[in-house]
Parts: sequence; C-alpha cells; structure tokens
Amino acid sequence: MNQPLKQEELGRLEKAVGATNPIPVTVAYGDGIGPEIMKASLQVLQAAGGQMAIEPIEIGESAYRAGNSAGIDPGAWESLRRTKTFYKAPITTPQGGGFKSLNVTVRKSLGLFANVRPCTAYAPFVATKHPGMDVVVIRENEEVLYAGIEHRQTDDVYQCLKLISRPGCEKIVRYAFEYARAHGRGKVTCFTKDNIMKLTDGLFHQVFDEVAADYPDIENEHWIVDIGAAKLADTPEAFDVVVMPNLYGDILSDVAAQIAGSVGLAPSANIGEHGAMFEAIHGSAPRRAGQDMANPSGLLLAGAMMMAHGGQAEVAGRVHNAWLKTIEEGIHTYDIFNAETSKQQVGTQAFAKAVIDRLGQLPDSLPAATYKADAKPFEVPRPVARPAAEKTLVGIDVFVDSDKAAEALAADMRQAEISPFELTMITNRGVKVWPDGLPETFCTDHWRCRYMAKADMEMTRSDIVALLNRLAGIGVDFIKTEQLFTFDGVSGYSLGQGQ
Ligand code: NAD
Repeated sequence: MNQPLKQEELGRLEKAVGATNPIPVTVAYGDGIGPEIMKASLQVLQAAGGQMAIEPIEIGESAYRAGNSAGIDPGAWESLRRTKTFYKAPITTPQGGGFKSLNVTVRKSLGLFANVRPCTAYAPFVATKHPGMDVVVIRENEEVLYAGIEHRQTDDVYQCLKLISRPGCEKIVRYAFEYARAHGRGKVTCFTKDNIMKLTDGLFHQVFDEVAADYPDIENEHWIVDIGAAKLADTPEAFDVVVMPNLYGDILSDVAAQIAGSVGLAPSANIGEHGAMFEAIHGSAPRRAGQDMANPSGLLLAGAMMMAHGGQAEVAGRVHNAWLKTIEEGIHTYDIFNAETSKQQVGTQAFAKAVIDRLGQLPDSLPAATYKADAKPFEVPRPVARPAAEKTLVGIDVFVDSDKAAEALAADMRQAEISPFELTMITNRGVKVWPDGLPETFCTDHWRCRYMAKADMEMTRSDIVALLNRLAGIGVDFIKTEQLFTFDGVSGYSLGQGQ
C-alpha cells in the first residue's frame, strides 16, 4: 500500500534539500517501502551537501487506481520532461490485466536506452560467495521483446516480436565502451545468442565488433549468453563491464546483483540523451512497508549516481564513502544482518543516521569510491550515418492457420501459385516439414509457407496481392506475411532449418 509522507514533513525536506544551483529532480516516493527509503535517502543526500530542487510526482498504485494504465499521472510528464532527472522509489504494480509497466513506459518514452547496474561485493562485511566481484552490467533498455508486440495467431500458437535496430545496438555498445573508458575499466564483454538468432542477436554482435575496433585501449570479448551467464554466476571476477540486449540484461543484472551480496544493495541508472532515471533495482516489498525495516542502500547509491550525473561528484563520493564505512562497521539492516560480520541491526532511519554520522569519512578496508569531478553525462557518439542498402524483394513467407497435414497444405499452396512465385518450403515452428519432412516432427496449426521468385524473375508488391487473392479464393486462412528481401545482395531473412 502507498504510505505517503505527511505533507508538512515533505515540505520541510524539500525546502531543506533545495538550495542554490540545485539539480532539478522529479521525485516519486513510490509504494510499499518506497516512501521510507526515499525519505532516508534524501536526508543523507541533503546532509552531504547535495543540492536539488525537488518536484514530487504521484506514480504507482494511486495513479493506476485513478485510471492511468501506465501508473503515472499525465501531468507528471511535464515535470519529467523539464527536469530531465527522475529519482524514483519502487512502486507496486497491481495484479491483473490492463496495467502497463511504468518502468518500461518511462524508459521508452524518454529514450533512456542504457540501464547501468554496478554489482559490487562488500566482503567480508556482506556475505557473498564472490568476494572480488565488481561487475557493471549495461543493459539495452528499449528494444527486442520489450516492444510488447504480441499476438495470438492460431488456436495453439502465440508470438512476441523481437525487434532490434542498428542504431539501438550502436548506441548501447558505444555507451558501454565510453562508460568503461570514463570509469577506468579495462574490458567490455558482450553476451548474445547469435548462434541461434543469427540476424537479430547477430546484429548486436556484429555492431559490438565494429564499435570495439574504435576502442583499442579496451579489451573486448563475446560470449554466447548461456555459457556466459554460467561463467558470470560462477566466476564474476572474470568480468568487468558486460553489455547485453534487453532481456538477457534484465535477467542477468538481477543475478549479478544477488550474487554480489543482495539485490537490496544494488542501484541502477537509466540513461538517455534527453534525461536519466535513478532507482534501486528491488521492488516495493509491500510486506515490509511502514515498519522502518527496509534497507535504503540501493536507492541511496542510485542517489549518489544521480549527484555525479548532475555534476555534484563530490557529494556522490561523500555519500558513497560514508555508506561504505557504515557497512564496514557492521551497522546493517535486517536483510544483510549476519551474526558473524554484523555488529548492530538497525532500521531504515537509524541506518540513514549512521551514514550521516560518517559523512566525511572513508572506509578502512573496502576500496573507497571515487567520482571524478567531470563525471557528468558523457556524450554518446551518434550512430554512424550509413548509405541505405539496395533492397530487393525476392520472396514471401505466408503464415497459415491450418489443421491439414504438410503434404495436403502444400497441395493447396501450390494450387494458388502464380508467376513469378514458386513454393519452396513449408516449416512448422521453424522445422522444415515440406518437402522431405520427417513423420516424427511434431506439428501445430501454425505453418510458414515460403514462396520465392523464380530464377531471373522480378517480384512486385502487386504480385503478392494477386497471390493472397488466390489463396483467399481457395479458403487458405493466412494469418500474416513477411516479405523477403535481399540488402545489397545479402539475404535479409533466415534460411530456415534444413536449408
Ligand atoms: P521486491 O523486490 O519488492 O521484494 C522481494 C523481497 O526482497 C521482499 O519481500 C523483501 O524481503 C526483500 N527486499 C526487497 N527490497 C528490500 C529492501 N530495500 N530492504 C529489505 N528487504 C528488501 O519484489 P516483489 O515482492 O517480487 O515485488 C513487490 C512489488 O514491487 C510488485 O508489485 C512488483 O511489481 C514491484 N516491483 C517494482 C519495481 C520497481 O518499481 N522498479 C521493481 C521490481 C518489482
């Protein structure tokens, strides 16, 4: 449940935090533990000399319940677009249909393409199996399956479109290398599944190789995501900066944060050309709400990233180092309390006070955090302009809903065949079943029928309309089509299994 701070308490806090040359910040106190950890984080940032002009907005449960399907009041966009900096506590997404993810909406609407998640171990003070871990996961934030373009196409089959763009790949990969350079990191690793998704993940890998060549001072490597993920979970010390397409980064940044110590400690920055959003990676933990128990560390460290991003690097360093000193002294909230290494179990407010009491101190044995004075948002180079390729229509995949067997369907599809088309293949969920299919292959009601232009014949869009007309005439239930193109003579489509 949303537990709003009392208005006068908010007013006092905002007045105190606001000062000369402040960073304009849109703040959302969120749901569940959100208001408590946001209040604690702002108190620490303020005590460290952080200068912010805060504009609070309502998001989350209250906005969802007021009928805003993305969980944000339409008026809040004005503040976000003006301040360009969003400090956001976690929110509760109501169960049930019709509610869109606020995070995805904000990231995509504001073009926050880079999700930066430092995952650091604080051994021996916070229990971890990987004491030397210091990995930054940089997740592409806008593309692939998060477009939310999904369809049910037949009785049995559903699809989700995976869209990836060259400029999208280029922006995130360049960002990862620029980040590595700016933060004195020596290696960038890329994870994809391009042994299977040769065009989409293949593009990400190809762009990674191209961009890496512009950064000879930084080591680069590529791993197939499955074995890369296993290696990351087993030997995170082998990694430095890791850049990934959206879905892999979503999953593996949580894994990386958890194996470093706790998801409760990890901050995240969502960076774009037109703004930035800073938040903890955990959710609103409703069961812990209103009990002064929650750990504010993830949100506080995100606040430090925000201060550095806004040009107040000295404040960021003071906050981060006081926090490290607090952790080192064993002053811990319940979630990281451990009888062997912790000294005192505290609540949210007492933890914030302990950090404030240590402002100006450095940790004794953990490495001190350094934020360069010029650690402002760096320019992400624009994607390189490229001449458009010569695009030629050479075929069409017609997707069909049918209960017939492959041979009978092929007979129908050939009956509709007109010049210049030639039916070359039918697949079922990507497995070739005609010609020369195997009787063992399991088939659903969802078929892809590929027509190619006959040798030396041109194909036009009017030919496609004529073909579809003939298919409709004989009662074929086509559910979608994909035109097949070559780009500068190179196939822009997968060949399909068995070819
Ligand atoms: P969660 O991260 O909120 O909580 C999981 C468990 O982790 C909690 O029960 C608690 O034991 C622990 N925990 C999390 N943060 C903690 C903290 N700061 N201090 C101490 N313990 C902490 O995940 P959930 O329970 O799956 O999700 C709860 C709600 O949060 C859902 O509505 C979900 O949609 C939402 N959520 C929001 C965001 C966001 O706003 N960025 C992210 C993830 C989940």
